[in-house]
Amino acid sequence: MPRDPYEVLGLAKDAPEQEIKKSFRRLARELHPDVNAHDPQAEEKFKEAAEAYEILSDPERRATYDRYGHDGLRSGGYAPNFDAFGSIGDLFNAFFGGGGGFGGTGRPGAGADIAVAVEIDLAQAAQDSKVKVSYEAIDRCEHCHGNGAEPGTPIKTCERCGGQGQLQAVTRTPFGQMVRTIACDVCHGDGRVPDQPCAECHGRGRVAVERTSEVAVPAGISDGQRVRISGKGHAGEAGAPPGDLYVQVNVADDERFVREGDDLITALDVPAPLAALGATLEVPTLTASIPVEIQPGTQPGEVLNIRGEGMPALGRGRRGNLRVVVNVQIPRRLSDQQRELLEQFSATITEENLSTEESMFAKLRRVLRNQAA
Ligand SMILES: [Zn+2]
Ligand SMILES: [Zn+2]
Repeated sequence: MPRDPYEVLGLAKDAPEQEIKKSFRRLARELHPDVNAHDPQAEEKFKEAAEAYEILSDPERRATYDRYGHDGLRSGGYAPNFDAFGSIGDLFNAFFGGGGGFGGTGRPGAGADIAVAVEIDLAQAAQDSKVKVSYEAIDRCEHCHGNGAEPGTPIKTCERCGGQGQLQAVTRTPFGQMVRTIACDVCHGDGRVPDQPCAECHGRGRVAVERTSEVAVPAGISDGQRVRISGKGHAGEAGAPPGDLYVQVNVADDERFVREGDDLITALDVPAPLAALGATLEVPTLTASIPVEIQPGTQPGEVLNIRGEGMPALGRGRRGNLRVVVNVQIPRRLSDQQRELLEQFSATITEENLSTEESMFAKLRRVLRNQAA
């Protein structure tokens, strides 16, 4: 059973019409998601308040309720209809108008956020770096300092709204007629209009500019992560804060490495005779190359772990490792001489050369890991 609408709105049974509206506005303001994001019940409470308002604001419905209660309303065919609204946001907008101004305060809107993307390479991602980004942004007009008037010319009270900056608009909603407050279309909520509009911005007070910002990209950033730069978004309306700039950092693939968390993985080609004999080979790192010792008898898919040559962990100093996967190359297209030598060599191979402690599972793991990479 729905609650008593008078109780919901905290009203006496004989409350005058203006009181109903005032009480609902006060409640709605308290329950607005911008104010009350922490209360998971806010949406339900708002719906309840809206329903109570819907009943009491209509004299006929109110009279039916006073006499017969909720049952009377239902048998009269009345049902609250909130389904027409997709979201709580739509519901609020139906009552108070969109565009940020809530309850007709005409508060100027904050600037919108801007999203841009930059691409850096893996070596850059491995160290703190600064990257320049260029983007279009709405800025305050410097010529008029944002007030929209040609410097030295007067600014007058807006005639359309009488300096209020807002207008009353009547809209039809499932609740009946709603009077909502919208920003004045002449002064855009300012209440004042320039006598002679600024030549640079045509009186808007804001201009589109090409802006360049330097972004500090932290070492260890992952592909697709975003860096937020507070206050670098579009300028807000006069007196309101600017939005933020979000820079999505794309890290380009490096053909030498696969990144796995903070580790880097690379494949090292080792000709079969060298894998058998042992050798010292150069392995690429992000910044240079380093010599790595290949032990005699190194098997395909063996992984050499080089500590501290991976990516730095974001926000921490420690670096991951460089994992070197040994790719044993079996020679192809042998010359007659090579074939002869290999045949001679092959005839000398004994059980001793091939025996291993490794179980079949361990062998499979090693080889399959190699395939997966
Ligand atoms: Zn201007
Ligand atoms: Zn106006």
